[in-house]
Amino acid sequence: MSDLKLNLIAGEWISGESEIENRNPSDLSDLVGTFAQASADQLDATLDQARVAQVEWAAYGLERKQAVLNAIGNEMMQRAEELGTLLSREEGKPLAEGKGEVFRAGQFFTYYAAECLRQLGENADSVRDGVEIDVRREPIGTVAIISPWNFPTATASWKIAPALCYGNAVVWKPANVTPASAVALAEIINRQDIPKGLFSLVMGSGGSIGQRLVESPKINAISFTGSVPVGKGIASAAIQNLTKVQMEMGSKNALAVMDDADLDLAVSLALGGAFGGSGQKCTASSRLIVHANIHDAFVEKLVAGTQAMKVGHALEAGIQMGPVVSQQQLSENLAYVDLGKTEGAELACGGARLDMPHDGFYMSPGVFLNTNNDMRINREEMFAPLTSVIKVGSYDEALATVNDTNFGLTSGIVTQSLARATHFRRNARTGVVTVNLPTAGTDYHVPFGGRGDSSYGPREQGKNAAEFYTTVKTAYISAGTPV
Ligand code: NDP
Repeated sequence: MSDLKLNLIAGEWISGESEIENRNPSDLSDLVGTFAQASADQLDATLDQARVAQVEWAAYGLERKQAVLNAIGNEMMQRAEELGTLLSREEGKPLAEGKGEVFRAGQFFTYYAAECLRQLGENADSVRDGVEIDVRREPIGTVAIISPWNFPTATASWKIAPALCYGNAVVWKPANVTPASAVALAEIINRQDIPKGLFSLVMGSGGSIGQRLVESPKINAISFTGSVPVGKGIASAAIQNLTKVQMEMGSKNALAVMDDADLDLAVSLALGGAFGGSGQKCTASSRLIVHANIHDAFVEKLVAGTQAMKVGHALEAGIQMGPVVSQQQLSENLAYVDLGKTEGAELACGGARLDMPHDGFYMSPGVFLNTNNDMRINREEMFAPLTSVIKVGSYDEALATVNDTNFGLTSGIVTQSLARATHFRRNARTGVVTVNLPTAGTDYHVPFGGRGDSSYGPREQGKNAAEFYTTVKTAYISAGTPV
């Protein structure tokens, strides 16, 4: 088949043992492409080649590595319009979000290009006379990267860029729902001055090729973003080989709206945080914890704002929310709407399948009212354009409710009180906390990750990435015979 998109195995683009079709969730008549599914033998072959290539790459000079990362990042930023269009077409997020994601992904590469030159070690005198100590970081080896579909380019980039920066080989298994963005990024990386087979793309389902990858003794580390059950399975596989693992897995983020909040700001933060990317973000504001004194005014504006949101084809100008990614996700979302009603929540608006000019996975953004924090809709990650309002009587109750979750990725407070903001910032049990800002949307030069079921292993991004993508060596040096 002429337009079949191939896997990158041991430095060669090759077809697989089978193929899948990828369709546009905004318009199912639009075939995005046909994608090869890698075989187990191909995976093994590329892992062998990665081991050889990694040694060669680690020996490249720092400026040579830096030039590679800069070239990747700059090309992505320059092609953000084109690649963002492809991303939105296959994932369903509005075009502005797709373009923004590709640009941001490029910034991860240019940030880590600069980090190539900032790899400083430590030194010390030994407790033994005449002996010096040199502590430095070395590459960990071959890194398996398993990425999700909701940020198909950015999530992969914030893993691939530091992996390469610190001298590792990469074997990447992207989500099978968003393979086109993966192929586009792999083409850019493979065109650079890198050893043959340093970077591999192995497309295929998580349950088959993904599982085989994480079970392989030929990998030295696994970086995963996705769901909690899959993450737990990957951790079990990793421990069999004592493979280093880092995982980021969803959340149930809360935005606390206090009675002294700027009401319009609070509503706009809630709308953006709840429905950006159709709510398919690990940082989405899925619990809105609202002080009783401002509750009614907030809810009135929130529901009006939700009903006014323009849902449509991801590439159509002026839309604020696209479809959800797949039939499976849509079915699960609608099941959560039914569950919420069964649990006694009031569905104030939305939460329904939408008939649109194009056949796609459309639903209206939904708001639940009169909910409590024990309901399953407030405890399980829905990954849907659905949010719940929980009314509370005080700041203390709000904070306790924010922290009453198994997850702990992000949380936010909307308040004009410095005292409350400071107390919240120091006592919210999440890896990321925001004040008068959305719970979603983070920078690339600082750590990202959570607590509880949200994350496992070292933080991602910023300088913290070195903790995962390197291993520390402590050298003792004696000059030999004393002078
Ligand atoms: P999964 O956890 O199933 O998938 C994430 C990645 O892991 C994909 O690349 C997937 O491959 C891969 N994978 C799946 N099973 C295995 C396995 N046994 N071994 C190795 N890799 C595997 O998430 P889903 O995409 O199915 O989404 C389900 C739910 O997960 C969402 O509704 C949401 O709640 C949560 N999620 C959270 C994300 C986050 O950002 N924290 C991101 C995505 C999902 P493939 O998809 O090709 O099968």
